[in-house]
Amino acid sequence: MEFFYRCTECDRQFDITPDRMLCPDCSQRQQPNRPLRGILEVGLRGELQGPWPAGATTLSLPYAELLPVEPRYFPAVPVGNTPLWEPARLRENLGRPKVFLKDDTANPTGSLKDRASLLVAAFARRHEITDVVVASTGNAASSMAGIGAAAGLSVKIFVPKSVPRAKLVQSLQYGAEVTVIDGTYDDACRSSLEYTDAHGGLSRNTGYNPLTIEGKKTVALEIFAQLGRMPDAVFVPTGDGAILGGVFKGFEDLIQLGLAGAMPTICAVQAEGSNAIYRALARGKFDDPIPANTIADSISVGVPANGRSVVKKLTQYGGHCVEISDAEILDAQHMLSAQSGLFAEPAAASSLAGLLRASDTVPQDAVTVLLITGTGLKDIDAATGRVRIPA
Ligand SMILES: *Cc1c(COP(=O)(O)O)cnc(C)c1O
Repeated sequence: MEFFYRCTECDRQFDITPDRMLCPDCSQRQQPNRPLRGILEVGLRGELQGPWPAGATTLSLPYAELLPVEPRYFPAVPVGNTPLWEPARLRENLGRPKVFLKDDTANPTGSLKDRASLLVAAFARRHEITDVVVASTGNAASSMAGIGAAAGLSVKIFVPKSVPRAKLVQSLQYGAEVTVIDGTYDDACRSSLEYTDAHGGLSRNTGYNPLTIEGKKTVALEIFAQLGRMPDAVFVPTGDGAILGGVFKGFEDLIQLGLAGAMPTICAVQAEGSNAIYRALARGKFDDPIPANTIADSISVGVPANGRSVVKKLTQYGGHCVEISDAEILDAQHMLSAQSGLFAEPAAASSLAGLLRASDTVPQDAVTVLLITGTGLKDIDAATGRVRIPA
């Protein structure tokens, strides 16, 4: 298989090199306070060497053939291959016998972000880069810190001061160098890019580094392999839109290679207080950002990095976007815990809240996958809203 970068706006192609992040043409037209222009995605050319999926290998990723970094550079850490739950009681209570939970809390650092961090770490090793830099609301930071620790990389992270304490402590445990920014996630992104401009290092910023979206596509590949078919609908918690972009990309690869037919109905789920993609889909363009405000910190984003490309894909494939309130998120978090045994952080439980809200758009017997993107233990304070702690 041959891999290359392709601009999501003008289709121009580039070699995959460490200094290439955005399309040099389209990024010229970047406006302040708007999603990134000129985001690159990985294109692939060629044919599979044998049947796919090839089955378990000793690698942490059995899908290496579809990834643009050679297997020997992957650090030895078991990312992905997460369980697909068939939650009997939740199914019964929802009246939906074919709901599945894709449990990405089972990743080494507790979130789906490990899929991106793994590919970025492998790429850094391949190019003998020792420093990786990332801005994050918490999970991308703790993920890069943990996977970086396994890979022997030095990781520098920029987090907003609102970062949940557990994610901060987790990053420090892994040995990352942490800078807390007195501002928002968007401010932390700016600081991290100023840092890499001045000091070098590979940026793992979501969307900006094309390998983040490419790494996240493995969740779609696994869902297809585990079900033995395309799902009918997938609910995706959405902040920057990088997971959403990765889900589309994984299914697109399968379609391109002739392994699967049509794109499933993809539903992006946003918090009402952080709904830039929802608004852009309704209005046809991104308008002035509204400061993000939601209890679901992992989807709290004012200016979604990958917004332009996912609005295009939602439109192209007939996907949906729903917004839900913080109250609906907390209700869904408790419902998921109490009816399935899977304790998710608020952002991760938003996929269930999204299904409850968009119930009429999904037939009761549809094969429906809820992406559960991060563990509830990462933000205990948020979870106390729906339980009573005994004296
Ligand atoms: C990062 C994250 C999301 C949102 O992903 P985006 O790519 O920013 O849309 C959702 N849930 C969890 C747990 C996350 O860590």
